[in-house]
Amino acid sequence: MNSAVGKGLFADAELPPPRIASTLKMPPKKALDRFHVGQVGDDTIETFLQNGFSLAICCRECKRLTEWTPPDLARRFGAKLKLRVADLCERLVCAGDEGCGAHDIAIFPHLYDDPTWRWAPPTET
Ligand SMILES: [Zn+2]
Repeated sequence: MNSAVGKGLFADAELPPPRIASTLKMPPKKALDRFHVGQVGDDTIETFLQNGFSLAICCRECKRLTEWTPPDLARRFGAKLKLRVADLCERLVCAGDEGCGAHDIAIFPHLYDDPTWRWAPPTET
C-alpha cells in the first residue's frame, strides 16, 4: 500500500493546476499586422492540446493579449476537439470589462509554460 507517492506523481488531474508564470509576450508588430486567419491553417483545438500549445489571443485594435492555456482549452472545448482554431478566431471578440469590443483578433500558438502538463485525450469508444 505505497500509493501516496504514485498518486502525487501521476494523478495530476486531481491536483490544482500550478500557477506558472507565462512567458507569453505580445507578438512583434509586423507579425501582428500581417496576421490573417488563413495562416492558422487547419489546426484544431485537438492539435493545440496534443502539442501542448496555448492559444494566444491578441486584439489588434487595443492590443490586449490573452492566453488560453491547454487546460483552459480542454475545459472550454473538451467536447469540440475538432473545432478549427481558424473558425474559432473568426468568432472571437475583444470582450469583457477591459475589452474594446473589436472583432479584429489575431491568434498565435504559444508553447505552454508548464512542461509537466500532459493532455489526457478522452477515450474513444
Ligand atoms: Zn480590444
